[in-house]
Amino acid sequence: MIESVSEPEGGLDPELLEVLVCPACRREVRQEGPALLCSDCGRRFPVHEGIPVLLLEEATPPGHQREAQ
Ligand SMILES: [Zn+2]
Repeated sequence: MIESVSEPEGGLDPELLEVLVCPACRREVRQEGPALLCSDCGRRFPVHEGIPVLLLEEATPPGHQREAQ
């Protein structure tokens, strides 16, 4: 299965993603499934109805992953 870069599943605009940064460390975030993942600290931020919620109090800290890989 080939992932399409131009059409993210969450429907987020790639140009929007480019300007979004993690509120904790100011690093860029990337889409990971239904959420946004900080490439630096590993926090996950929820996306509510297509609106990224980049708030520390809404973030899931690293180490809280439910899925083991
Ligand atoms: Zn971060």
